[in-house]
Amino acid sequence: MAENLSFAQEITNLMYSPHGSSLNTCLQCGTCSGSCPAVEFMDQTPRRLIGMINADLKEDALATNTAWACASCYHCTVRCPAKIDIAGVMYAVKRYAMQHKTYSEDLVNPTFYRAFKKTVDVNGRSYEPLLAPSYIFNLGVKGFFLEVQGATKLMLKGRIPVLPSRIKDQKKFQRMIKTIPTKEELL
Ligand code: SF4
Ligand code: SF4
Repeated sequence: MAENLSFAQEITNLMYSPHGSSLNTCLQCGTCSGSCPAVEFMDQTPRRLIGMINADLKEDALATNTAWACASCYHCTVRCPAKIDIAGVMYAVKRYAMQHKTYSEDLVNPTFYRAFKKTVDVNGRSYEPLLAPSYIFNLGVKGFFLEVQGATKLMLKGRIPVLPSRIKDQKKFQRMIKTIPTKEELL
């Protein structure tokens, strides 16, 4: 019979490096929220997200944009007095949302991440013009033209290449990518 896992256990299972303390050691002290440079873009603070996960409020936790607004700076992780890898939790929440397709439809991030991965898989490095369609149409008319204007200036100054450049030993890189375990292998 399949084991009924709590949401906190499901998230812990999706953390690639579960070197930190278990999520249930959270003191709700708020150091993570107070340290977070992206908190103003989040509808719930990192402290509240950890609290929701521990309280098994899966739907509420997944409805927040908190993990998607996370900038992966690791400030929270290094400062947490309970030694919880909060940045790792943010990645795990995003993995869960993408695997179960539970993210909000108006988020551009999942499309952006897929486009980023595809570009890196093919070229070995990122190529901004291929990433742009994943978010540029959500910026509104003014935002769209500002983005195009900015990108054109960067291209003219040689800061964005006109064509994608590829790394030298691309085959070796792709072999390395294939060694990354799939989600089925991780479960
Ligand atoms: S800093 Fe750590 S202990 Fe404090 S609220 Fe955040 S996760 Fe919990
Ligand atoms: S890793 Fe994410 S949640 Fe943690 S402080 Fe940085 S932006 Fe905030």
